[in-house]
Amino acid sequence: MPRGRGSSVSTHEKPNVDAAVDSDKDNSRHKRSAYLLLGLFILFVHGSWSVYRMQFASLPLPLGAEQAGKRGFSEASALKHVKYLTSLGPHPVGSDALDLAVQYVYAEAEKIKKTAHWDVDVQVELFHTDIGANRLAGGLFKGKTLLYSDLKHVILRIVPKYLPEAEENLILVSSHIDTVSTTEGAGDCSSCVGVMLELARGVAQWAHGFKSGVLFLFNTGEEEGLDGAHSFITQHHWRNSVRFAVDLEAMGISGKSTLFQGTHQWALESFAAVAKYPSAQIATQDVFRSGAIKSATDFQIYEEVAGLPGLDFAYTDTTSVYHTKNDKMELLKPGSLQHNGENMLAFLLHAASSPKFMKDAHQAKQESTEQKKDIFFDILVYRIKIFLLSNIMTVPCNI
Ligand SMILES: [Zn+2]
Repeated sequence: MPRGRGSSVSTHEKPNVDAAVDSDKDNSRHKRSAYLLLGLFILFVHGSWSVYRMQFASLPLPLGAEQAGKRGFSEASALKHVKYLTSLGPHPVGSDALDLAVQYVYAEAEKIKKTAHWDVDVQVELFHTDIGANRLAGGLFKGKTLLYSDLKHVILRIVPKYLPEAEENLILVSSHIDTVSTTEGAGDCSSCVGVMLELARGVAQWAHGFKSGVLFLFNTGEEEGLDGAHSFITQHHWRNSVRFAVDLEAMGISGKSTLFQGTHQWALESFAAVAKYPSAQIATQDVFRSGAIKSATDFQIYEEVAGLPGLDFAYTDTTSVYHTKNDKMELLKPGSLQHNGENMLAFLLHAASSPKFMKDAHQAKQESTEQKKDIFFDILVYRIKIFLLSNIMTVPCNI
């Protein structure tokens, strides 16, 4: 098409205009890319935060004593125990404060005995240990010989009244009353003791229907080198009736009580199936057993010395306060004890009522627990997947 004379665009100017148009297009394309990247970044951050919230920060509603009822678990009741124990200040082995703490736990155990179901037999014992030597083959105390004597533990055994065989098949639930000398130990492990006392109160209302008994061990001497658990499992007259061990611990304070060591397939599946808010991380077990974390739990004694199968749970939020003066009640998040207590109550009711559980646990004790290679972790809060060597199964939880 011929160009008119009056045209303002010369043939020399056309490439410049085209270049300008191309440049505008490039700029807007770059802007769009930048907005897209920014959008994706915001989406990523928001998504990660949401996953974190669901996986680690979502806790159940704490219940009062009336809301939980006689047979439920109340965080408010458990917190009363934590409050008293922390009010004593640091209570390491050998201190007067630890004597007071032991007396308190004993008195609370006696109350549980008095209010138990009429078809349930509750025995409470203050156990003074003899002299003992604790030498472990692995872990934090590998190669050391630790001597102890005259430790005091509170033991609470709950069995159905008219089933004598239950006395020979006990599920041990264990934690420690003593703290290190620097802290009042709200997380480590007054929170565990509070949960166990409230759990025992609830279990004592249910145990008439059990096939096995439940033995709560409130030990002292854990912080000295796992001496409390060692003295119980090598000296106490009920030690040979224990078939399975559950250990409650804290390597921080608050948050979810997470399953981080487990050596019994049926127990892992059961926990996944019945726990109301299951939480589990196999990675922690690997890190813990590698020695990268300078810590140990009583679970090592139950596994290594007694050869028991079991499950080990710990609070791992705010690990910076672990064994410091900042391990204080103010850091206990609402819902944290409820999370541990409701999970444990559901698991114990299920395990203690099941004949298969004891049969399997007994068998597992005969075998080397080192052979077990179960892998477990939870996907958000809705389910736990348990991967076994030979097969894969997904066990949805009941929420
Ligand atoms: Zn501890």
